[in-house]
Amino acid sequence: MNFKILDRATLRVFLKFLSILQTIVLLFGCTSVKDFSFKNFEEKIITVSHWGGTPAIDSLAKKHTITHITLHHQGEHFPEGKDPAQHLRNLQSWSRREKKWIDIPYHYIIDLKGKVYEGRKIEYAGDTNTEYDPAGHALINVVGNFEEVEPNEYQLEAVVNTMAWLAAKYSVPVDLIKGHKDYSKMTVCPGKNLYMYLENGFFFKNVKAKLNSEKKSKL
Ligand SMILES: [Zn+2]
Repeated sequence: MNFKILDRATLRVFLKFLSILQTIVLLFGCTSVKDFSFKNFEEKIITVSHWGGTPAIDSLAKKHTITHITLHHQGEHFPEGKDPAQHLRNLQSWSRREKKWIDIPYHYIIDLKGKVYEGRKIEYAGDTNTEYDPAGHALINVVGNFEEVEPNEYQLEAVVNTMAWLAAKYSVPVDLIKGHKDYSKMTVCPGKNLYMYLENGFFFKNVKAKLNSEKKSKL
């Protein structure tokens, strides 16, 4: 008898949980589909002044025209709870102090929650410790080490959105979206667990879908 009462109560809690879950899924699904547009995406990018960085000196910068989109990872453990703004401020001072670069080597950085931060101005060519020439490449960097951990769903979605937005803005063909190691023998960047999504076509498929839906919404 007692067992049955408990069982019914558990069932009720479970059903309630299911209905809440369904509402969350519906809300989340509708929001992300309805609200995504390249314009909205661009407006949400966290600017350099917002995360407490300082602009690079324009006269020292090498200007370039974007023809490629190239994916990187941080290559270091990025613990949950670490402040991405502090990480960027540290990366900016390290880049200038130790490497004598004008700025952070990447143009856009994605944190653990899928937020996108502006790094080096996109008009300026990036920098690298490896043998390829990053001029012409829009450089996307994702925090974490994907030789060791898996990218989470927020990061994957942000990578797709950033790639699609850049591809549309600079007319980059989808087959020129690649990973750092496609241009350099000196690195495993962006790490096997993130590179996998370039290899298996996940990024291409989803970037194409975003580009198509953006085109349709403008018709
Ligand atoms: Zn890299």
